[in-house]
Amino acid sequence: MLYAQVVLPLAQPPYTFSLDEGLAVRVGDAVVVQFGSSRYYTGIVWSISDERPTFAHLKPILRRLYSKPLITATMQRLWEWMADYYICSLGEVMRVALPSLAKPSATSLEELEERSIAPPTERYLRLDSSLQTEKALAEYHAKHSRRAPRRCDTLDKIGAVAIARGALDSWVPRRLIDAESEHIAALEKQGLISCEHRPTEPIRTTQDLLLPTLSEAQGRALELIHAAHNDNRVALLHGVTGSGKTEIYIHLIAETLAAGRDVMMLVPEIVITSQLIERLERIFEGRTTTYHSRLTALRRGETFLRLSTSTGGELIVGVRSTIFLPTHNLGLIIVDEEHDANYKQSDMSPRYNARDTAVYMAHSNNANVVLGSATPSLESYMNALTGKYAYIALSERWGEGVLPEIVVSDTIRAVKRGERKAHFNLELLRFITRSLECGDQAILFQNRRGYSPYVQCRTCGFSPRCPRCNVTLTKHKASARMECHYCGYSEAVTTVCPNCETQDMSLMGFGTEKVVEEISRLYPQARVERLDGDTSTSESAFKRIVSRFEAHETDILVGTQIITKGFDFKGVSTVGILNADNLLSLPDFRASERAFQLMMQVAGRAGRHNNRGRVVIQTSQPKHPIIRYVATADYRAMALAELEERRAFGYPPYSRLVRLLLRHTEYELLRRAAHYTAELLRAKFSDGVMGPVASALEMLRGEYRAEILIKVDRGNSMSRARQHIRSVIADVAKVKDIKAVRIDVDVDAQ
Ligand code: ADP
Ligand code: ZN
Repeated sequence: MLYAQVVLPLAQPPYTFSLDEGLAVRVGDAVVVQFGSSRYYTGIVWSISDERPTFAHLKPILRRLYSKPLITATMQRLWEWMADYYICSLGEVMRVALPSLAKPSATSLEELEERSIAPPTERYLRLDSSLQTEKALAEYHAKHSRRAPRRCDTLDKIGAVAIARGALDSWVPRRLIDAESEHIAALEKQGLISCEHRPTEPIRTTQDLLLPTLSEAQGRALELIHAAHNDNRVALLHGVTGSGKTEIYIHLIAETLAAGRDVMMLVPEIVITSQLIERLERIFEGRTTTYHSRLTALRRGETFLRLSTSTGGELIVGVRSTIFLPTHNLGLIIVDEEHDANYKQSDMSPRYNARDTAVYMAHSNNANVVLGSATPSLESYMNALTGKYAYIALSERWGEGVLPEIVVSDTIRAVKRGERKAHFNLELLRFITRSLECGDQAILFQNRRGYSPYVQCRTCGFSPRCPRCNVTLTKHKASARMECHYCGYSEAVTTVCPNCETQDMSLMGFGTEKVVEEISRLYPQARVERLDGDTSTSESAFKRIVSRFEAHETDILVGTQIITKGFDFKGVSTVGILNADNLLSLPDFRASERAFQLMMQVAGRAGRHNNRGRVVIQTSQPKHPIIRYVATADYRAMALAELEERRAFGYPPYSRLVRLLLRHTEYELLRRAAHYTAELLRAKFSDGVMGPVASALEMLRGEYRAEILIKVDRGNSMSRARQHIRSVIADVAKVKDIKAVRIDVDVDAQ
C-alpha cells in the first residue's frame, strides 16, 4: 500500500491519504479527495511513500485529474521556498497559485469535470488569387497607388514576404507584416487578401519576428544586459521615462523565444499597460498570454491548464500572480517598474513580493532576469551599488524626446502674495492656460492617499514625526492624539507649530473630486475628466476615460497615482502635482522614496512627443531635499541620501522588516495576546521589536487588529529569525486563553 501527502487549499499542513493500487498517481498530480463529510477538494500530491502513518483512519484518493502532473518539480520547489520564506502553509500558497478552475471543489464527484483546452493559433494572410502573379500585383499598383498608397504598400509587403517564402500564393504570418490591425481587416473585407488561423509555430530565429530597430544607446544597453546574463547576474535597467525600455525588452523576449524558452513579463497593474500588451501581442502573435485577476475564472483556469502542457516558447505577460504559472523551460523574467508596491501582496497570505520571487525563481531555473524602472527601488539600487546586480543606465529619451522642465511652485509664498486661486498657484494656472490655448492637454495629479490625516503647519510646512521611527505621525480620531504607526509613540495634537511657533497647525488633505470642481470653474470651456479608484471601478470605464483623453476628447485629466504609470499620451504639455506635501508626509519610512518615484513618474507623462513639457510641483516645502532631487531629476543623489537615512534608522535595505498581524473579535483577548507575543519576541530580538500598536485599520470585518514590527539587522541570519518567529507563534498557540488569536506574518513588509 502507498500513501500520499496531499496539499489542500487550506491553511493547514499536507494531509495523508491512501493510494489504491489501480490508481496511477504521480508527484505533482492534481487529485480529488474527500475532506470533511460532504466536500470534495482538489489537492496536489506532494510526495508518495510506502510508510503507513500512525493514525488509524485514512481516506483514499478518489481520482486523478488531468493526464499530466499539474505541478512541475520546479513549481514544487517554488511553493516550498515561498511557504518557508514568507512563513505560511503550502495550502495558502496553493490558494493563490492555482486558479479556481484548476482546483475545483464540489459537493459531489460528478461536478468535478476536466476540461480540454484548444491550442493557441496565429493569423496567416494570403493575397487574393486575382493578385497572385507579379503582373497582377504590378497592375493593381499602377491603378491604385495614387489614391490608395497605403493599401498598395501593404499588399506589396505581403507579396514580398510571400515570395521570400516560396511564391506569391504562399501564406504569410500576420506578424511579419508591419501594418495596423484595422488596415489588415479592411483589406480582408475588400477581398484583396484572405486570412486564416493556424496553430502557432515555434519561433526559430529572431528573423521570424518584426522587431523595432534600436537606437545606439538602446543597442549598447542590450549588449550590457547580455553581458550581465552571461555572468549569471540580474540586470537592473535604469532608464528614464520614454527612453524605450520596452524596445529593449522586445529584443530580449525575441531572443529567448527563438531559443525555445519561455518568458515571463511582470507588470504592476494590467489595465494601465493595455498599450504595452497590444504592442506585444502584435509582435508575438499567438505566443502571448496575458494573466490577471480581471480575466474570467474560466479564462484563467484554461490559461493555467494550457501552459501546464505547453512545450516552451511562450510569452506570459501579467501581474504578480503570473509567477505561479507553469513553465517548462523558463529563460527570462522581466519585471517592469520593479519599484512598484503592487508587486507585494500585502492583504493576504502568502504576503509575497513577486519581484523578489522572480529573482529566486530565475536563479533556481537558470533563467535571466531584467528589473526595469525609471526610479529603481532602493533595495535593487543597493544591490547594484554593491555589485550584486549589473547596473545599466539609459539616461536619455528616445529620438527627439527631451525630459520636461520642472518648476517648483511655493504654495505658502503664493498665498502670501495673493497668487493662488482655490488649490492652484497662478504659476500653474498660467501653464495650463498656455497648454489649452495651443490645443495641448494637461494632467493634474492629486494623491488620494494623502487623505491619511496628518497635521501640518500652514506657515512653515512642518509636520511632526516620530523621534524613534522617523515617520510622520497620524492623527487618530479616537484618541485625539498623533500616533506613530510603527512603534505606538504618541503626542498631543498642538495648534502651535513646534518648528516656527506660529499658531497655524491644521489637518491637511483634499481629493480629486474637489480638484475637478475647482478647475472646471476656472476653465468652463475645458473638458475635464477624473481618473481614480472611484471613476474606474470597471476596466471598461477606465478604458473609456483613457481613450477619450488619448483621442483628445478631454482637455484636462485629474487623477490619482493610477495616471502616473506607463501611459504614453501624445498631447500633454503641462502636468501639475497639486500637493507634494502629502506625498512627503505619508506615515511610512519609504515616504521619501515613494514621493520621488511618484513625482518622477507623473513628470514622465509630460512632453513625451517632441514638444518640451512642463511639470509644476506645488509644495509648501520647496527646499525639501526630495523636491530638489525631483527638480534636478537626480535619482542618484536621492538614493544616496535616502540610503544614509535608512542606515541611520536601521530600515531596509539595511534590515528586513517582518510584521505580525494579530486579529480577534474580542478586544481584551487580542490586547493580551499581542503583548504576550511581543514579550516572547523581545526575548529573541530584544530592541528590534516595535509595538504592539493598533493597526491602521483598527477594526476590519468585525475583528480587532494589532501589529508588531520586527527589524532584523542585515548582519543577522534571516532563516534564524524566521525560526524564532515560527517558534513564538507556536508558543502563543499553546497558551490556553489566547490561542484563538489569529497571527499572520508579513515578511519584508512594505
Ligand atoms: P519607457 O518604457 O522607457 O518609458 P517606451 O518604451 O514607452 O519608454 O518608449 C517611449 C516612446 O519612444 C514610445 O512611443 C516608443 O514607441 C518610442 N521608441 C522608443 N524606442 C524606439 C525605437 N527604437 N524605435 C521606435 N520607437 C521607439
Ligand atoms: Zn515610532
